[in-house]
Amino acid sequence: MSLREFLEEMEERREVIRITEPLSTRFEIPLVMKSLEGGPIPIFENVEGYEGVTIVGNVCGTRDRLCLALNVSREELYNRLIDASRNLKPPSVVSNSPVTEVIEEPDLRSIPILTHYEGDAGAYITSAVISAKSPDGSVENVSIHRLLVLDERHLAIRLVPRHLYKLWSMAKGEGKDLDIAIAVGVHPAVSLAAASSPPFGVNEFWIANALLDGKLRLIKCRKVDAYAPADAELVLEGRISRDREATEGPLVDITGTYDIKRSQPVVEVINVMHRKGYIYQALLPGGAEHRLLMGLPREAAIYEAVSRVVPKVRAVNLSIGGCGWLHAIISIEKQTDGDAKNAILSAFSAHPSLKHVVVVDADVDVFNLDDVEWAIATRFQADEDLVILRNVRGSSLDPSADQERAITSKMGIDATRPLSKPREGFERAEIPRSGRAEDIIDKLMESLGDPDSF
Ligand code: MN
Repeated sequence: MSLREFLEEMEERREVIRITEPLSTRFEIPLVMKSLEGGPIPIFENVEGYEGVTIVGNVCGTRDRLCLALNVSREELYNRLIDASRNLKPPSVVSNSPVTEVIEEPDLRSIPILTHYEGDAGAYITSAVISAKSPDGSVENVSIHRLLVLDERHLAIRLVPRHLYKLWSMAKGEGKDLDIAIAVGVHPAVSLAAASSPPFGVNEFWIANALLDGKLRLIKCRKVDAYAPADAELVLEGRISRDREATEGPLVDITGTYDIKRSQPVVEVINVMHRKGYIYQALLPGGAEHRLLMGLPREAAIYEAVSRVVPKVRAVNLSIGGCGWLHAIISIEKQTDGDAKNAILSAFSAHPSLKHVVVVDADVDVFNLDDVEWAIATRFQADEDLVILRNVRGSSLDPSADQERAITSKMGIDATRPLSKPREGFERAEIPRSGRAEDIIDKLMESLGDPDSF
């Protein structure tokens, strides 16, 4: 399964728009991507200075599109993600695939890498799925990292101290550089699997393959010891230096604010493989797609954890306004008045970066923020229903927190209806249904066009 096949499917659903006017990789394409957030997938066919290459953006830009990519409804989404991480499937390995159509010497300046924001350190690859193995070959890890272009053969990689960092430290301990495959232009299931964070040792390619019903194929890199999705558009083979570092940042992160400069390891690119006329996949940092990709796997983790402490979880939304990371809205069916507070505590432990949680009843739509505010307005009393936690480990990305120590304050809002008061007082008034009126409403809606939603 490839990005191309997914784009064809989306084109049939009229979810793709082709932009033929010339646009620059520096700010112009990011600006158009930003303006189309929540809408169709833009394909930029005329990239100034890069002949024969197209750029696609916002591929995983809406929740519904991710559901289509995984062939599930919104209701089935979390269970699909949870099942995939429990029923891991090793992908097949092939020796040739479209990505080997062109094999060439690295020149990063020939790739249409975007410069997104005014204050960014430079051009950044932001959609890359990076895979590497432990020195003894027993562990393979796949994750997404931002890469700053330093020159025609070198990148600086942001290594958050997680799994790839661990593999790099292991290689470094043996006096070696770490071989990596950097894949750009992959099916959304691969991006989603790479954005999830199963325990160290779990191979995210196996999760992606489970999500794709066994249709993920890998290819062994030509010059480094790493595997990449065989149906990727572009693969850079490289090595993370054991000792060379460069200044990385600033770059806008998930909060939409600039992340700080750091000294980070340098990647030497050794070989480049790509399809003929490849599609470069762009991803706008701090945009809706970034937030969705980061947030969705965490929503599944929260769903799973809260399901253990309350009778039923209806839905979870790590809202776009909350950066897809810091705010969760959870709807539950509660049995006792204490359930919502347990849900709050359980959500905080399932996703340690979470800062604010709102728990609502199942009749409130967690994706409709007006509805959520209505629940807070009519079902919440601050002296009874508010939970505040001080000096807790949180996100290092929140500029209002103690970013050095990642210490923050957290708040939970129980906006569920108290069981001690009569139910009627909290119920939403309804207007009786009428077939004739509904027909007219349908016609009106059709003439207005469907509003886009995340
Ligand atoms: Mn991992």
